[in-house]
Amino acid sequence: MDAALARAWVSAVAASVAAQTELLTQLDAAIGDSDHGVNLNRGFTAVLAVLDGPETPGEVFAVTGRTLVSKVGGASGPLYGSLFRALGKALGTASTVDAPEVAAGLRAGLDAVRKLGGAAPGDKTMVDAYEPAVVAFEKAAADGLAAAARAAADAAAAGMRATVDLRARKGRASYLGERSIGHQDPGATSTWLVFEALASVTA
Ligand code: ADP
Ligand code: MG
Ligand code: MG
Repeated sequence: MDAALARAWVSAVAASVAAQTELLTQLDAAIGDSDHGVNLNRGFTAVLAVLDGPETPGEVFAVTGRTLVSKVGGASGPLYGSLFRALGKALGTASTVDAPEVAAGLRAGLDAVRKLGGAAPGDKTMVDAYEPAVVAFEKAAADGLAAAARAAADAAAAGMRATVDLRARKGRASYLGERSIGHQDPGATSTWLVFEALASVTA
């Protein structure tokens, strides 16, 4: 992965979030406060405006993370912001990174999200899509970026679907207790979009 591919990924995430704003908003209306689509669309629209400057993959993701933190309110801004900042930091200043290096960066992103939000797998959050995606990416990393990204996106989709039956223990949805059961988590859904975007630009 070089800086151009990193930019293509982040741009594809922005396009997907823009196209799926209504879906993310509706999911958040059921168990949150109806702003997840708007939050992420605002953030990634701002990211598109700063993508031209960075010259390495690490810098692309670091700038993405900083912009999300500064432009997005709510839980998802700091969480996605920390994820991309940690990914950027892990990749350092290399002009190209291979699939195992991206895997290590995605793992650093997971650690950052879990440290900031305190959510474990099973708590019905973005972690339920992101954690299995990272595990799948790591397992397939030896087969290259495209294979790893495809495996990660499929694992994220399965994790996202599994949030339907979970009871939320973190974030706004946790206020609903049992009533959060039966609804798909918005953040797990946007995390699936993030990995589908990676699979689409690496295929
Ligand atoms: P807010 O809940 O502040 O309105 P968003 O609607 O943008 O923020 O994002 C909600 C999503 O954030 C949830 O669906 C969930 O996936 C994720 N989330 C919330 N709290 C946490 C947490 N503590 N750890 C991980 N993810 C979380
Ligand atoms: Mg919300
Ligand atoms: Mg909110």
